[in-house]
Amino acid sequence: MGEKCPVVVVGAGPAGLTAATLISQYDVDVTLLDDQLSPGGQIYRQVSDSKIANPETVLGADYTGGKALVDRFLESSARYVPGASVWGVNRKREVSYLRNDASFFLQTDHLILSVGCQERPMPFPGWQLPGVLTAGAAQIMLKSQAMAPEKAPILVGSGPLLLLLAWQYLNLGLKVKAIVETTQTQHYFHALKHLPGAIVGRQQLVKGLKFLKDIRAAGIAVYKGASEIRALGDQVLEGICFSSRGKQHTLNAELVFIHQGVTPQLQLPKLAECELEYLVSQKCWSAKTDQFCESTVEGVHLIGDGQQINGAEVAEISGQICALNVLKKLKRIDQEDFDRLSKPLLVKKKRQLKLRQFLDALYTPSDIFITPSDETMVCRCEEVSAATIREIARGGCQGPNQAKSFSRCGMGHCQGRFCEATVSALIAKEQDRSVADIGFYRVRPPIRPLTLGQLGRGQSDDRETN
Ligand SMILES: Cc1cc2nc3c(=O)[nH]c(=O)nc-3n(C[C@H](O)[C@H](O)[C@H](O)COP(=O)(O)OP(=O)(O)OC[C@H]3O[C@@H](n4cnc5c(N)ncnc54)[C@H](O)[C@@H]3O)c2cc1C
Repeated sequence: MGEKCPVVVVGAGPAGLTAATLISQYDVDVTLLDDQLSPGGQIYRQVSDSKIANPETVLGADYTGGKALVDRFLESSARYVPGASVWGVNRKREVSYLRNDASFFLQTDHLILSVGCQERPMPFPGWQLPGVLTAGAAQIMLKSQAMAPEKAPILVGSGPLLLLLAWQYLNLGLKVKAIVETTQTQHYFHALKHLPGAIVGRQQLVKGLKFLKDIRAAGIAVYKGASEIRALGDQVLEGICFSSRGKQHTLNAELVFIHQGVTPQLQLPKLAECELEYLVSQKCWSAKTDQFCESTVEGVHLIGDGQQINGAEVAEISGQICALNVLKKLKRIDQEDFDRLSKPLLVKKKRQLKLRQFLDALYTPSDIFITPSDETMVCRCEEVSAATIREIARGGCQGPNQAKSFSRCGMGHCQGRFCEATVSALIAKEQDRSVADIGFYRVRPPIRPLTLGQLGRGQSDDRETN
């Protein structure tokens, strides 16, 4: 099946770029596939051709700092295939992707999946109304098209990305109407015990405090400890109501941007039959790897936020560790070099993970946001409510896969990406079982929409289309 490549990397974020650049330095033929049109992933999206006039002032130095990583990759000998949307992989490391309206197929000995994360669903009554979108989607429009809302949005939820977006809008001179923060008081206490360890990431913490200071200085109202959120409106969003610190609030709004943290994108590891494990500390599934990033399937390596949520710095470190492991297997470095080069990286990674424990304790959402009220639409593609999922669970449904047959939830356009976590959590709660026991959606290729024509125009090598 398809062209044979020694190493294939999927995803051009910090993890994939680092791995591909390092491996190619040892004269190994590396192919990197990414669905975006320029490298950078989520954090450094379009950093080398930003449409924003002064990206450092607007998006911050962390964003423009990624240009060096992108440049190193572009100068390397790695073969870069932009606009390549991978819709299938398997345990034999066969890769299928769509590009220029045709499907292409590759086979490799070393498949490195670095596909990043997705936003965690934040279901509440009315979240399906036009006018409610995720903060990540709003930031993608800003980074890729320099598009920002004309009407001041309300930002709802928790996590660093929410504050970052508000700060980036302020830098553009845009107004944010209010921030409705959903972190519950007990989370601050819980996070405090991880604060000493998090000191390694103090620069990040200081940055977060600066965002908050600037937001407050701009006079933006911040409502703390919010819950009972409801979007108002019949056909389109008209406002939101919520309770905060014992008081009910109603705010008019045409735009609400929601965010509740991120979870790994696991469709491709699932297709490759990699083992997953449920992380209680992050309330999501992650993919099992050894310390050198190799999954439970031989030759399939998982790095970055697509394996486990640890942020961009750890994504880069894991890209380096994985690259060394692949180079050792390809006999480009010996065991001695491998040990010498990988040891300091493992130590650095371990230190960085201490900051993550703090962030997880603070921002992993409470169950009230994971198991929404009955009237809430859980699967927006197939319009399935939380009440239906609860009813199915009470009727003895064994898990999310059986729930598909009963209700069609998870069978729509997004293929369950945006309802999986909620459906599993609802069934688990109703049956008094753990999410780990309930399981996750099985996936089948294609994981992305593909027409028969695009499949039929299959080719084994798209070098000529580069
Ligand atoms: C919307 C969004 C915005 C974010 N913004 C920030 C931010 O501003 N600052 C910050 O610190 N963190 C941000 N994060 C978190 C951030 O993504 C990571 O910490 C960091 O980028 C992880 O790096 P990575 O290399 O693991 O993955 P990513 O940077 O996400 O890179 C993964 C790449 O894989 C591509 N990809 C995914 N699936 C496929 C497929 N099937 N076929 C082909 N290509 C595929 C993606 O398009 C992407 O280019 C954001 C996350 C999200 C979801």
